[in-house]
Amino acid sequence: MRAGTAARSSSGPDLRGFDQVAPSSPTRGPGSGRGLATSIAPLDSGLMTHHYTVLFGGTVLTFEAARPTDAASRAAGPGVPDAAGRRATAICYAHDRILAVGDNAEILALAGPDSHVVDLRGRAVLPGFLEPHAHPYWEGLVAGMRLLAGRERRAALRALPGGAEHLEPDAWLVARYDPTGWDRPDDPTRDDLDRAVPDRPVLLAHVSGHAVTANSLALALSGIDRATPAVPGRMAIDHDEEGEPTGVLRGPDSWDRIAAAMPAPTPADGRAALARAATRLAADGVTSVADADVGSTAGVAAELAAWGEAIASGAMPLAVALMPGLVRIAPAPGDAVPSPADIAAMLPDAVRDRVRLSHVKLKADGALTTHTAWLRAPYDDAPHAGRPVHDPAALAERVRRAIGGGWAVATHAIGDAAVTAVLDAYAAAPAPQRPHRLEHAMLLDEDLVARLAASGATAVVQPEFLAWAGPTYRIRLGAERAARLLPFAALLAAGIPMSFSSDRPVVPGAPLDGVRAALRHEAGLSVAEALHAWTAAGAAALDDDDAGRLAAGCRSDLVILSRDPTAVPAAAWARGDDGIVVVATIAGGRLVAGRLEGLA
Ligand SMILES: [Zn+2]
Repeated sequence: MRAGTAARSSSGPDLRGFDQVAPSSPTRGPGSGRGLATSIAPLDSGLMTHHYTVLFGGTVLTFEAARPTDAASRAAGPGVPDAAGRRATAICYAHDRILAVGDNAEILALAGPDSHVVDLRGRAVLPGFLEPHAHPYWEGLVAGMRLLAGRERRAALRALPGGAEHLEPDAWLVARYDPTGWDRPDDPTRDDLDRAVPDRPVLLAHVSGHAVTANSLALALSGIDRATPAVPGRMAIDHDEEGEPTGVLRGPDSWDRIAAAMPAPTPADGRAALARAATRLAADGVTSVADADVGSTAGVAAELAAWGEAIASGAMPLAVALMPGLVRIAPAPGDAVPSPADIAAMLPDAVRDRVRLSHVKLKADGALTTHTAWLRAPYDDAPHAGRPVHDPAALAERVRRAIGGGWAVATHAIGDAAVTAVLDAYAAAPAPQRPHRLEHAMLLDEDLVARLAASGATAVVQPEFLAWAGPTYRIRLGAERAARLLPFAALLAAGIPMSFSSDRPVVPGAPLDGVRAALRHEAGLSVAEALHAWTAAGAAALDDDDAGRLAAGCRSDLVILSRDPTAVPAAAWARGDDGIVVVATIAGGRLVAGRLEGLA
């Protein structure tokens, strides 16, 4: 590690907010003052070191100077590091900034007697993972709900009333179901729910969020009967042979339609949900999270208020990006779109500059598991090909309006027809100020990969989906199409910026499980490449220059793993035999999950 990589150039680290009251304590350790003394001169000019934390004696994967693929690194010539970037053995940070990264001697030399000095004992330090597409508000709310999963459909449904024991007599029972592992994967119907819980309204959300089932009481309270019209692309209502609704609704408006009859989450519910989500994310090593559809559960105003309070109170200590649902802030295709500044004005003053607002969320289709993804050719197990949420002209108009409002667009597209429509809409619109994103981008072919590369958009993909619903995808698509799902290596080879995410709580969402799923899916991918997609690439997707790498001046967002993840063969990761765990997570210089001896 060259000294020059360890600190910012002549201007030095950003020291605003540091104690600047007394000369620094004498440096200590072998090699004191060597090498780094000039490049970090500002550190020695009148600063206390008691806020310094020094981690040494490990492997620091910096992702600094990292190329997204090992092939690109090799092509760049000898000495260029792999996708994990330059390696170091020690790092020093204070408050929310990294001060230096280097070898043990260089970094130990920065510590004073009053600094926290922690021996990593061979553990690894990486940039905290970035989660550019999740639903933390929803994750926190559903964390206390029952998830009807497992192998036996009947047993899963029998467990439903167990969730009602603590409820008030007429309160709604809300739960989720995941039929992908069931022996009979049919969606539950109103009859199933009526049998299980006849005496209170029940709303059951498909784990993907793209379908719901309501029981008879909930349908009645929502005013849904045999005459209720569907909304093409947005809400389909399944009917039985007599023409009665089966209780199953599909499409992006389904949740809203039933939930409108239900008491809304209170502000306290929202705050508690975000606090719960933060705890879960931090435990998985995540230090930045994006809410990829603000407003989808309780409305934009209520959710922004909850975010504002959670951030201001410290309950949400992670870096936050909020992506408002475009149809929620501009309901009709021709509506003017409120700008990021307009949305920021809905947040409390104190947190406005702590929230990134760069992309709006738009949905072009649904999910493969619920037969609502939009395909070019029909499903293998259904007589249709899904359908678009917006017709292509309206989709293009919405993209144009969003760019006019000062946003880039992150569009959900899973089926090949939906991906095509989104790329058409992006191509027809004026260039955005920052790259658009394509969320999921699941069913691709060579031509679509080439078009995606040419578009300049970032692909935000979810490897854990494959581990979760792989068998269901094969049933929906057949072998040929299923084999084309999520070609990570091809995306990288085409030069497409590719960031991993989880879409949690659709799946549990731990980034390390995402690495395992990605390496199981594609033998051609390296561990360093998979980790790059959770770090440096995530920072690019979130347009956050201060995260995703470990270098002087970057935010002190770190995850400490039990050992160097790149020293474990990809095959062991793919088998789940890697043995790597998150030891501790540090966000903005604060320990937010786990523990490590000596770490405050
Ligand atoms: Zn999502």
